[in-house]
Amino acid sequence: MTAPAATAPRPLDLGLYPDLQRFGATDISACFSCGTCTASCPLSQTDTTFPRRIIRYAQVGMKDALLASKELWSCYQCAECAETCPTQADPSEFMAATRRYAIASYDRTRIARMMYTRPVVATLFALVVAAFFALFMYSAHGPQSGETLAIFEFIPEGLIHDTGIVVMMVVFVAGFAGVGTMARRIGRREGVGWSDVLGSRAALRRAGRAAWAAIGRDSLGQARFRQECAAETEPVAWYRRRWLVHALTMWGFLGLLAATILDYGLALAGIKETGTPVPIWYPVRLLGTIAGMALVYGTTILIIDRYRATHRSVKRSTTADWMLLGLLWVTAVTGFVLELALYLPSPPTWGYWMFLLHVAVAMELVLFAPFMKLAHAVYRPVALFYVELARGRQEGG
Ligand code: SF4
Ligand code: SF4
Repeated sequence: MTAPAATAPRPLDLGLYPDLQRFGATDISACFSCGTCTASCPLSQTDTTFPRRIIRYAQVGMKDALLASKELWSCYQCAECAETCPTQADPSEFMAATRRYAIASYDRTRIARMMYTRPVVATLFALVVAAFFALFMYSAHGPQSGETLAIFEFIPEGLIHDTGIVVMMVVFVAGFAGVGTMARRIGRREGVGWSDVLGSRAALRRAGRAAWAAIGRDSLGQARFRQECAAETEPVAWYRRRWLVHALTMWGFLGLLAATILDYGLALAGIKETGTPVPIWYPVRLLGTIAGMALVYGTTILIIDRYRATHRSVKRSTTADWMLLGLLWVTAVTGFVLELALYLPSPPTWGYWMFLLHVAVAMELVLFAPFMKLAHAVYRPVALFYVELARGRQEGG
């Protein structure tokens, strides 16, 4: 590994904790670093200072160290620490607020900061963006056929694709900028440079193992989440387990994204025109249907659990939490109802409006991804990659 770069220590930022409170940080002023949370945290087997070290950074204003902490993202909000803290500091919720703060700090547009710290403005902004997409699409609308539900005659397919490409470009630029900033900060702190990842065959092997553990095992496979559920003392029905509900939401979202891209690819390759009726077992349609069902189920349970505060980890909710769940749920449900409407014997008029709502909300959801909690889908695997790389170094792999 490259030796950590010798940089001059930055002055402490005394505004850090008040700023974190704007993101929902709990009151940590009474935390006296007793370490009880560390003793109960499943992650402290490999790090005997987590999570109290992160709290200490916030207390003394070590902003750079906090934003360069890979462990921040390995916390999966099991809330074990919250149960045991003698000062009610709720380290679990504090970690969640710190991740919101980190997303906003990596984002240079300051949109993420607005989304998290100004709920009324953020809600109005979300409504305006959704209305803009809907009106923009509607401005080019065609006829509403009464014989079949010809949704791509109503809203031209080309307009949807072109708008989607612009939205994806914005997301990639904003997303890469944010992830790049985060990876640079963590890499500098950990003393990990390009040569440690690509410099030799051994480095490549180690990086490959770390990438598999971070992306395959822990993110797509939900390994840590599953372990936590297996250790739950309260019996929970298998179909309500946190890891399964979270996984179905994630797989559903990724599946729908993949189905949309594949459908576009088939049209480009001249294999199937977008919107052509196909049987249920047609692979892309089947993928979209299964993914849609997974997303509807996952988001519905997440909303119910958050509303009922069934688990300590969802006792507190921010406007941004509700907004993300709302966008996911509306996207999933409108897509699913539209799918049913397309196969009704006589096409319902409401199917056209359902399609317009679906397109507008789905565009907004994708556009907002780098500025909301959804961004953790990328930040977490990158941070876990560094965690696994450090583990490999310790084990001499
Ligand atoms: S957050 Fe609570 S449990 Fe953790 S070190 Fe502080 S006082 Fe102790
Ligand atoms: S919520 Fe996070 S910090 Fe707290 S015990 Fe769970 S993994 Fe550890």
